[in-house]
Amino acid sequence: MNETVAATAPAAARGPSDYKSDVKPVWCPGCGDFGVVNALAKAMAKLALDPKDVAVVSGIGCSSRIPAYMASYGFHGVHGRALAAGTGLKVARPDLTVIVTGGDGDGYSIGGNHFLHACRRNVDMTYIVMDNRVYGMTKGQPSPTTEPDWDSKLSPEGTGLREFQPMAIALTSGASFIARGFTGDPNGLAEIIERAIRHPGFSFVEVLSPCVTFRPEQKDWKKLVKPDAFRPTADLPRAARRLLRDGGFDLGVLFAGNRPPHAPRGPRAGLDVSVLEARFVL
Ligand code: SF4
Ligand code: MG
Repeated sequence: MNETVAATAPAAARGPSDYKSDVKPVWCPGCGDFGVVNALAKAMAKLALDPKDVAVVSGIGCSSRIPAYMASYGFHGVHGRALAAGTGLKVARPDLTVIVTGGDGDGYSIGGNHFLHACRRNVDMTYIVMDNRVYGMTKGQPSPTTEPDWDSKLSPEGTGLREFQPMAIALTSGASFIARGFTGDPNGLAEIIERAIRHPGFSFVEVLSPCVTFRPEQKDWKKLVKPDAFRPTADLPRAARRLLRDGGFDLGVLFAGNRPPHAPRGPRAGLDVSVLEARFVL
């Protein structure tokens, strides 16, 4: 847990910098993930959230360092299990704003199964995936979203494997809010994150976040993205048809559905843990 949570300023006086901790990011200069910290802080300020009421949960990887850089509560967990931890937290403490962050390797490979079921469960939290189509922290292996022909020292002539399609999978698995942002469009990204946090239910935000070290060619993404290309709809078949025309660089909110978020049955919220423990005593 962060020890930097300090809700000293009144809500009206809080600006984006009040949502960042004093910990200096260790990311490579130019890494897209800096843009996500800035956008997230901006969104939190816009929503006037109290940092003590926010928990940022992550798994493992470069982007999973984000909880340390925010002035909210945070949990840096194990590889691929961020959504499981975030789900448990939200179900136990529905009063908290839970934001889960991570990368494409963490979320779609090791955590792929959790991704499907988090979409299906539709617990009210926000999942931000910084997709750079590579495992950055472990020095450049192909991830599930890597292009099949990406030729590198660790994947000579490419993997030949079809890319994972996160937005299509989120849509068919039941996520109730689906959007794509780009770290080179900080205002657009902050607005998308703000809308995602506001939306009741499981909100999935895919963020194109270049890895300048292992995928320097991704610096060209700024020439490829199309801001506001998606128009939000609550119509699932329409969103699915729109995705068929997506080349991976369309930005905006694709889908904002109205399926009610998961509501835990029974008196779980506020449950006294000692009561639960007593039921499991052998
Ligand atoms: Fe960012 Fe890539 Fe450096 Fe990791 S290795 S900090 S993803 S630029
Ligand atoms: Mg990655």
